[in-house]
Amino acid sequence: PEGITVGELANRMAEKGADLVKALFKMGTPVTINDVIDQDTAELLVEEFGHRIQRVSESDVEIDTTADVDAEDTLKPRPPVVTIMGHVDHGKTSLLDALRGTDVVAGESGGITQHIGAYQVKTKGGDVITFLDTPGHEAFSEMRARGANVTDIVVLVVAADDGLMPQTIEAINHTKAAGVPMIVAINKVDKPEANPQRIRERLLEHEVVVEDMGGDTQDVEVSALKKTGLDDLIDKILLQAELLELRANPDRDAEGTVIEAQLDKGRGAVATILVRRGTLKVGDIFVVGEQSGKVRAMVNDKGQNVKTAGPSTPVEVLGLSGVPMAGDPLSVVENEARAREVATYRHELATRKRTTSAPTSFEHLFSALN
Ligand code: GDP
Ligand code: MG
Repeated sequence: PEGITVGELANRMAEKGADLVKALFKMGTPVTINDVIDQDTAELLVEEFGHRIQRVSESDVEIDTTADVDAEDTLKPRPPVVTIMGHVDHGKTSLLDALRGTDVVAGESGGITQHIGAYQVKTKGGDVITFLDTPGHEAFSEMRARGANVTDIVVLVVAADDGLMPQTIEAINHTKAAGVPMIVAINKVDKPEANPQRIRERLLEHEVVVEDMGGDTQDVEVSALKKTGLDDLIDKILLQAELLELRANPDRDAEGTVIEAQLDKGRGAVATILVRRGTLKVGDIFVVGEQSGKVRAMVNDKGQNVKTAGPSTPVEVLGLSGVPMAGDPLSVVENEARAREVATYRHELATRKRTTSAPTSFEHLFSALN
């Protein structure tokens, strides 16, 4: 089939030729700006850059140079996605459990809570918050390294009896690097040796200035053990979320991110997907990383089967061809042929990348230039 030169494609996309060449190197396809690439490669490249594409004929494509951004009037408020970080033993798991216990729906539905890597809490006021159940900055930075910035707000847990520890400082740095707002939860305030004020002072050394100290970082004293301060923490998360004006278009083909995935005895490959925009529906055909599939069933964090999942909703998806990786993007596509085509293409690229040593050195060159 005919192709298009990298330079011409860049023109049509209104992107820099050098950026396309760089992206192609990363995909394991070393080319120059004058080289001709085939239609499939061009289409994938266009999609990687977030542009819409339309195949006009077998050999030509039309590119909508406006990035694939949802129109203002399609956007609706969506729940915030919160990650809890902090030093080991400072109470991340305890706090997640305590917050989960505040969910007003869990009690009335009688559903058995299920570990799917993320969960939602409905507050007394009716607001919904999504918590990623993968505490720790490893998961956070791993996802971010893979281009999946799913977290809207970080809650930094610091034990009031222990102070700022190496992983606390690492978490602060990761959060700053990601440009994500942080709320400090000073935990274990029930302990007699707790000294919350000392924490606030120590945070100054890392340029985290809480409101009491004249800054704009919210902080809250909690005890995950005694379940105190939880409502206050929830209020602060909601206040922060309001400032962020988090919105997404729920009325489009779904896009999401893999939170975790595994091969399940009897159910096959299953993945927890956090829907980013659009609404994922049973029967939808999708591509996820190097895998494809059709949504056979969806299970929420309360163990209930659901037919649809909107923005910021975590849901376990059944019907995948194989196990994707955490951080992989999911996109609903028009048909199974297209899903397989994209998945196969991505798999080939990844295989080439894994088996070719040359592009690695090019990658080093590019990162050195950046
Ligand atoms: P993680 O490693 O950050 O997930 O910490 P965990 O949630 O596992 O908690 C570590 C230890 O601290 C456990 O023994 C908890 O029972 C205890 N702990 C957590 N939160 C509190 C709290 O608010 N007060 C007290 N006194 N102990 C707590
Ligand atoms: Mg833990």
